[in-house]
Order: sequence, then C-alpha cells, then structure tokens
Amino acid sequence: MPAERLYYADSGLTQFTATVTDIRERSRTGGASLWQVALDRSAFYPTSGGQPHDTGTLIATAPSGARLEAPVVDAEEDEHGEIWHLTPKPLLAGTQIEGRIDWGRRLDHMQQHSGQHLLSALFYQELGALTVSFHLGDAISTIDLNTESIEQAQLVNIEQRANAIVAEGRPIAQRTVPSADAEILLQSGTLRKLPVRAGDIRLVVIAGNPAAGAIAGKTAAGAIPGQDAGGAGAIYGEGAPNPDLDVNACGGTHVASTSQIGAVLLRGTERIRQSVRVSFLCGNRAIAAARADDALLSQLGREFSVGRADLPAALARIKGETKASAKERQTLREDLANYHAARLIVEDPLQNDLRIVRRIFPDRDAEYIKLLASRVARAAPHTIALLASTQQQQAPASVVVACSQELGRDAGQMLRTALAAFTGRDGGSATLAQGLVPTDQLDPTLDALEAQLRNRPVPAG
Ligand SMILES: [Zn+2]
Repeated sequence: MPAERLYYADSGLTQFTATVTDIRERSRTGGASLWQVALDRSAFYPTSGGQPHDTGTLIATAPSGARLEAPVVDAEEDEHGEIWHLTPKPLLAGTQIEGRIDWGRRLDHMQQHSGQHLLSALFYQELGALTVSFHLGDAISTIDLNTESIEQAQLVNIEQRANAIVAEGRPIAQRTVPSADAEILLQSGTLRKLPVRAGDIRLVVIAGNPAAGAIAGKTAAGAIPGQDAGGAGAIYGEGAPNPDLDVNACGGTHVASTSQIGAVLLRGTERIRQSVRVSFLCGNRAIAAARADDALLSQLGREFSVGRADLPAALARIKGETKASAKERQTLREDLANYHAARLIVEDPLQNDLRIVRRIFPDRDAEYIKLLASRVARAAPHTIALLASTQQQQAPASVVVACSQELGRDAGQMLRTALAAFTGRDGGSATLAQGLVPTDQLDPTLDALEAQLRNRPVPAG
C-alpha cells in the first residue's frame, strides 16, 4: 500500500515517524549507490503538479543508540502513488525512522504555489484568462494564461489586488470530497477543471472574504447526491453565487492563510505561442528580488554618479552622446580614407598605364580597408587597390580588391579565382570585392592576384 501522505492533512508538518516498507537501488555511479526508500507514511512532497520535491533527512536509531542519518535528496511518486525517497544511505525494510523535512524549502514552495492559486484566480476574475500551465522554478515561477496580451496597468492592478488579499489573511482550506461532488462543482463552473482519476478529490479553497472562511466542499458531502437538481446551489445555497475566491482540485502543499504567501511581485510578461507567460515571485523570494534590484540600482547610480531617480535621464544622455560620436567617427574615418588614398596614389606611380596599390595593414580593421580601397580606386584612373587587414589575430586576413571603373575588370571574379583554394567566404561587385585568406597564405595570394592583374604569369610556388 502506498505511503499515507501526511502533508494532505497538515502542510506545516515537518517531523514524523514511519517505518521503511521497501528499498531499491536506483543507480550506482563510481561505486556509490543511490537508494530509493518507501515508507508507510510520509510528509515528504514528491515532485508533481508543477511543485518540486522536498528535501530533508531520515534518521534511524540502532538499539545501541547509534544514529544513522540518511539525507533525502529527492522524492518521486510512481504510477501506483508510492512516494520514493532518494538517499545515498540504505535503510532496511522494517526500520523505524524519524523523518524531517527542510522547512525553509517547503515554505518557499508553498508560498510560490499558493501565490499561483491566488494569481490564477485573479487573472480569471479580472481578465477571463485561464491558467494553462504553472512552473515553479529555482529562481522564478511562471503561469501561462490563455489570453492574447496583458497590459502593464492590468498587471499592476492584479498585483495590488493580490497583495490586498494577502493582507486580509483569508483562510486557505484543503478538504477532500467525493468525486461526484467535485463533478457538480465542475458543472456549475466553480471548479474550472478536474483531474481524470477515480476516487475522492482534494479541493483547495481560498475564501471569498476574511471572515466567512472557505465554503466549497464544507457542506457538500451530505447535501448533494440526488437531492438538488441545482447542483452547486446545494453547496452554496439555492441560487447563490460562489462566495469563494477560488476552488481548485490540487494535490500540492499550500499555506493555511493568504497572509503566509507574503509579498506578491509580478515581474513581467512574455508571449509564448497562444498564451501569455507571467513571471512572479512570492514571500521571501519577492523580498530577495527587491533587494537585488536595489543593489543593482545603487551600483548603476555610483557608476554614473547620479541618484537612482536620475538614471533614466543619464542613460538617455549617454545614448545620445554615443550616437553623435559614432556619426562623428564615421565622418572622420571617411575623411581619413580620402587623405590616406591620396597619399597612397602618390607613393605608387603608374607602371605600364596601371597603378596597383598593394598594402597589408596590421592596425586597420576590415571595414576601414574596404572604405580605403574604394577611395583609392576612385581617386585616380587606371588604379587597382589590393589591400589586406591582419588586425584580427588568430583569424584569417581580410583582403579587398577595388578597381577603377574605366578599367572594366571584374574584381569579384579575380578574387574568387584567387581564393578558390580556400574555404574563406568572398563576395562583392565588379569594382569592389572582399574575402578571407589564411594569414600564412596571404603573401602568395597577393602575389598571385598582382600577377594576374598585371597579366603576368602567376609566380610558382
Ligand atoms: Zn495547489
């Protein structure tokens, strides 16, 4: 028989006694085994329904008084409903143990999970958006809602409502009802979905107001079967609307009052296929996130020497300055390329009515030599620029060929032929082409290109 789940009745239970009913070796790595241990009763929550497992310890005491502490690193449930506690230390069947769960981790999970119930209820109430999935992450939790979009103002409104309900300390009740009663709640729309399984259904109910307590399922047991065609009316009173804020069929662990959820912080939305994903943090996580944001803003303020309120203005100013500098830099580069081209033309006179300006620049980037080559080819007729940049170390050299237009030569074709031996990409037009050449092949490649340009035989070797 699967373990009795003690957290169903009491989510705050942190210590319990139990007997080991089964043990299996789950895996073995490097001579160390990981065991899975079953108990007759357990307060450990196994990973399910979007909520991660508990961790903790199983403690066995030998007749001699010696204590064995087996850390529980994971808890899983199998298809038969058994909870398996994963531990590196074996515990024999029949051993009496004391179980202790890590309360900090459990409370954190309960805060995020209960917060999700509250938020899902409010997103449905306010926007008619149903929750299609929930993920409780290590750092942040998310709910996916079946809606097109959510405005920032709607998000802020729901965050405010959630925190108001937290402050009211409304009861969150967990109770089990026969599946027939749950079915009626489903038909009346009070329950939005039901798990597909036989047997009793566990309801988690957030009260509609602080004083009334959670209603659903409370009086259902005796009131429903065959007595009232109105269904939900039998639960809430004839014709009365659902007075609970939320009724959910859920097997997870929850806090007993909305006040224990603590602060609710919505972090943003993201469009995921047909739904909108909302990120949120509850309780201690919300405080930790606010603390981290605070530290980040302080750091940025120091970095820019302004108060945090002045950060947007400071960043806008820097952005403007950066844009202006980039524009000025481009103008200077173009001016420089023009002067540079004029000097190169003077340095390399015409030979047989053709000027080839051949240079390797270890300190200029590929973009600049491209600009320079185009200016060289334009600065004087009968001129071909054959330039390379080796600025990027451990990377292929960038080679540019640019031809004065009236020469009628195809720079792209010439470069393609010269680079055919390499896999380096090349591309460009008839007057300007650029490609990549392995650095150790740069000189022979330029030799071959120059020979081709001067219509001389390609040098051997
Ligand atoms: Zn739940």
